[in-house]
Amino acid sequence: MSGKNQNCTRCGACCATYLVTFSRQELDSESGGWVPTAFTDSDEIFSRCAHMRGTHHRPRRCVALMGTIGVEVSCAIYEQRPSPCRDFAQEADFGHGDARCGDARRIHHLPPLTGSYDAFPLA
Ligand code: SF4
Ligand code: SF4
Repeated sequence: MSGKNQNCTRCGACCATYLVTFSRQELDSESGGWVPTAFTDSDEIFSRCAHMRGTHHRPRRCVALMGTIGVEVSCAIYEQRPSPCRDFAQEADFGHGDARCGDARRIHHLPPLTGSYDAFPLA
């Protein structure tokens, strides 16, 4: 989720599609970290990594995602979300998605945003 305006707050698809993994240095249990550790799990394979709980196994849904996808959602830790969430489709909230944003929206039966790749019309 890249923003707080209508495109993302009426979507949330990416938060229930992708594995959200990041460096353990971002955890608030680490010096200088900010992501609430209680919302995360350690990565068993890559010990230097953590991931948002709920995004590691299918069906994926981050535990911090509140609300109904495609209707109204919010991130319970928005100001403290990890770097992949901050970096994801940064223009989406201004109407310009990208391929990963578009893929997530399609998986959740939402049309791609204007400005997203749109080569494949919805069936
Ligand atoms: S899939 Fe795109 S529009 Fe939907 S919440 Fe994520 S970044 Fe925003
Ligand atoms: S931390 Fe927030 S923005 Fe990141 S995946 Fe979870 S609900 Fe989405």
